[in-house]
Amino acid sequence: MRFKDLCECYFKLENTQKKLEMVDILANTLTKSDGSEIGKIVLLTLGKLYPDFVGIELMLAEKMAIKALALATGKSEKNILSFLDEIGDLGKTAHKLLDNKSQSTLLDFTNQQETEKYDVVDVWKILDIISQTSGEGSADKKIRILSGLLSKVTPLEARYISRLIAGNLRTGVAVQLLLEALSKAKTGSRENKQFLERAYNRCSDLDYVSSVLYKEGLEAVKEIEVKVFSPIKVMLAQRVSNSEELLERFNGKCSLEYKYDGLRVQIHKKENKVKLFSRSTENITKQFPDVIDFINNAALENEFIIEGEIVAFDHEKEVILPFQHVSQRKRKHDIDQKIREIPVRVFLFDVLFSNSTSRLDLSYLDRRENLQKIVRETNNIKLSHQAIADNSDKIDAFFHQALQDNCEGIMGKSIGKDSVYQAGARGWNWVKYKAGYNTKLSDSFDLVILGAEHGKGKRAGKYGTFLLGCYDQIEGVYQTFTRIGTGFSDEDLAFFFQELKPLESEKPKEYQSDVESSIWFYPKIVIEVTGDEITRSQMHTCSRGLLENDMDGLALRFPRFTGRIVQDKAPEQATTNDEIRTIYLKQ
Ligand code: ATP
Repeated sequence: MRFKDLCECYFKLENTQKKLEMVDILANTLTKSDGSEIGKIVLLTLGKLYPDFVGIELMLAEKMAIKALALATGKSEKNILSFLDEIGDLGKTAHKLLDNKSQSTLLDFTNQQETEKYDVVDVWKILDIISQTSGEGSADKKIRILSGLLSKVTPLEARYISRLIAGNLRTGVAVQLLLEALSKAKTGSRENKQFLERAYNRCSDLDYVSSVLYKEGLEAVKEIEVKVFSPIKVMLAQRVSNSEELLERFNGKCSLEYKYDGLRVQIHKKENKVKLFSRSTENITKQFPDVIDFINNAALENEFIIEGEIVAFDHEKEVILPFQHVSQRKRKHDIDQKIREIPVRVFLFDVLFSNSTSRLDLSYLDRRENLQKIVRETNNIKLSHQAIADNSDKIDAFFHQALQDNCEGIMGKSIGKDSVYQAGARGWNWVKYKAGYNTKLSDSFDLVILGAEHGKGKRAGKYGTFLLGCYDQIEGVYQTFTRIGTGFSDEDLAFFFQELKPLESEKPKEYQSDVESSIWFYPKIVIEVTGDEITRSQMHTCSRGLLENDMDGLALRFPRFTGRIVQDKAPEQATTNDEIRTIYLKQ
């Protein structure tokens, strides 16, 4: 497929807000693929070159992109910067400048330059070279390659190449919409999305799933199973607020486990090779060489996928340390020193693959039994603390013991026949019951920073308050839930100021907001917030349309930052409007 055709599709997508129309536009273009390059089309459409777990990102510093654009257009960098300031988007800037350039060269026949006809794969390959060029002189090399590409494509193509480089295509297409479009394009119906989603949840690899769909058909997609080194989308839990409710959810009997406050890890092992993936399928192997050794030591089988929580651990006192300690192990530098400073222990709680077989469809107790056969407990590897409960007194006692042992609460897990591992789902087979915050509202929320106001007084020169949102998984949009200014340390504010770059343009398309914000950001940072109560609001859009009065949304009153920046959650994994509505209804 020509890259230009894909860009025309992106342009149409950019110019509509209607979800069904977007699915149709995208499906129309996807139908034209012969299948050979469908994986690349799909990845580029999500603004990526590889699935997340591969760990190769395309982003290029804005400064370098500006230099490349200057070379491609013959304008000065200063000139481009002032265009960028005015237009507020690198893609539109590139489009406009190259448009101007082609008009002036049309008047000058001696200087006329033909654009080249690039296929999707050509562009993907060039971007891949840019992203993988490293070492001495690599910055100049990247700029040269990018400017070469920009000078040979049409202005519309330059718009989207620049946005790919800037890290956001701004078409509003997220995974769910893409799956629907793929389903429509190849099977004629959006309904078959469920099978694509099932396969995607098992391997987190849309390149692979779409290629199987195009080359082997839907039946082959239905057969896709988990495989080692392709992370499985993690299973998540619903919330309950007391032991009675927990027990009721499981018809009077369930398994309890400590809810450790650390980093979730999915451990893939084959022979001597071990890879670790985070909750959001990011490859975190390099940060935990000590965990690799622990696993090799404890393994009783050669090949498996298991899950657990990594916590910071004081081996002398035999106590779990608070989350703040282990979160420092996420750094990519000084790893040896950090291993010494912050030793960890892994508490395992599930097995997803062993003996060359997927274990997702086994019931919970069978998986637990299997887990015990795959690893032996050592000083650094333990199975999660567990008990079966059939009355609320037992649950309360387990809960209080968990808090005493420095856990954040407990997990309740179904022990029924259908207690399978639901990859990628937040179902009722698992529930979490966390310690309260001694306020009317006992829960915390993981919310995305959508916008900010300029700081005043002590916060001058930084952001002062923030607009926070939740995620609507069905529509693939962010809805506003609260504005927050309390609980931030100077370091937090400095960090947000460094990480969040203001968008000069209007708010992103995927934000549903009636609230004005002086500054908008792309969704990037998720923070943990508590509050006093959830109230109806005509101002915020969280769950709007899902309450009795269509104009009402939900808002968080008296929000406070808990001090926790949730680094292992991507913005789409923030608390959903559904979860907030459930908590509101229970208040
Ligand atoms: P939270 O922010 O409360 O950890 P979450 O959205 O990351 O929530 P949930 O599904 O709501 O995930 O809660 C389960 C999380 O608790 C898991 O992702 C995992 O990191 C952690 N956890 C700790 N102990 C266990 C356990 N024994 N079983 C399952 N998950 C556990």
